[in-house]
Amino acid sequence: MSIEASPEVLEGLQRWRELPARQQPEWPDPAAVVRATEELRGYPPLVFAGEADNLREKLAMAARGEAFLLQGGDCAETFAESTADRIRNKIRTILQMAAVLTYGASLPVIKMGRMAGQYAKPRSSDLETRDGVTLPAYRGDAVNAHGFTEQERIPDPRRLLEAYHRSATTINLIRAFTYGGFADLREVHEWNRGFTANPAYARYEVLAGEIDRAMRFMRACGVDFDALRTVDMYTSHEALLLDYEAAMTRIDSRSGLPYNTSAHFVWIGERTRQLDGAHVDLLARVRNPLGVKLGPTTTADDALALAERLDPENTPGRLTFITRMGAGRVRDVLPGLVERVTGEGRTVTWVCDPMHGNTITSPSGYKTREFATVIDEVHGFFEVHHALGTVPGGLHVELTGDDVTEVLGGSEQVDEAALARRYETLVDPRLNHQQSLEMAFDVAEMLRG
Ligand code: PEP
Ligand code: MN
Repeated sequence: MSIEASPEVLEGLQRWRELPARQQPEWPDPAAVVRATEELRGYPPLVFAGEADNLREKLAMAARGEAFLLQGGDCAETFAESTADRIRNKIRTILQMAAVLTYGASLPVIKMGRMAGQYAKPRSSDLETRDGVTLPAYRGDAVNAHGFTEQERIPDPRRLLEAYHRSATTINLIRAFTYGGFADLREVHEWNRGFTANPAYARYEVLAGEIDRAMRFMRACGVDFDALRTVDMYTSHEALLLDYEAAMTRIDSRSGLPYNTSAHFVWIGERTRQLDGAHVDLLARVRNPLGVKLGPTTTADDALALAERLDPENTPGRLTFITRMGAGRVRDVLPGLVERVTGEGRTVTWVCDPMHGNTITSPSGYKTREFATVIDEVHGFFEVHHALGTVPGGLHVELTGDDVTEVLGGSEQVDEAALARRYETLVDPRLNHQQSLEMAFDVAEMLRG
């Protein structure tokens, strides 16, 4: 039997249209937006309500310290790079990191891509000026093109449809790879042995040796490796473009309740989390597990008000606070937030985004980050939670599976000159494959104590 939504629920899903919405494109032709979103409404869901519910249960475990979340992927996915190779490399990187973290934390790791929908970007300025020419800023492939010409920067709502199709092909590959044997733990372990065989990573040899022994122990015990051949991998993106997110919000026939079927997990960005804004209103009404980014100026009152608004029933796993304070501030700012939110009896999952508070411009003009600073914020995050007796629930990172040179440092010492070699991101700098693994080893080493 299929349950229909109540008229109040359906009406509520339109409420965002009357509220202020930051960071939306100025679509030149509103009728074309209506046509595109009408078409989108007829497309099948990309994820199912039951999957989102399962994820909520797992995030509740992460909130209690019984699991750990690893969420990673590009700052901005692009249509051009939604190829089988690039997607496979990202999945592989996340699986490799997850294997190392599982060992370090002695906990199940929830694997989640910033993938299959991360096509829209908030920007600090609506305009971009180069050599005296000013054009609308690039807002992600779901909105306009990155090329610096007037034509390419005009927002085009048909891109919303392409974002859907690219997301569909990406999630199809994710499902195929993670259920089709690619995720076999023995394989993943072999890939990691390749990493630690590199002398640059000699300091992780002890840990790598331990994992190796653990694998041999499991084999000797007759552990059913066939059961370890498939993993659940979830999708996520920033719910930024309300036309898209609303069109992908559907009624679950089991419950009559709305779910955002564009991803398992969606988050609200630091720039769009106003309590009286359209983003908070629309997402408060869907049942998916949600994230909210919290930057260094967040007050405890802000955090509590967001929790009350987005998670009025205090359902474990419903709300994840993704803190991105910066390495220099995390130890000062985070304790007050965590103390107050927990003190009010709220259960949220605390996740560290060590990327967005640590962005710098290199002398040669690249938007970059220092690997050591990124790692320092992760350490600060764990220190704060350990001191308070609260639970560090996961990591949120911008990464790619390829050998790009966008973040400075790491054991292979990407330097200022190397940045020019393979700087490919269109928005924020990502950890490359090796740096991602190094982060996983570093965190695992720390967790193991
Ligand atoms: C991002 O995750 O790419 C982003 C823009 O983050 P924030 O909202 O935290 O600035
Ligand atoms: Mn980013």
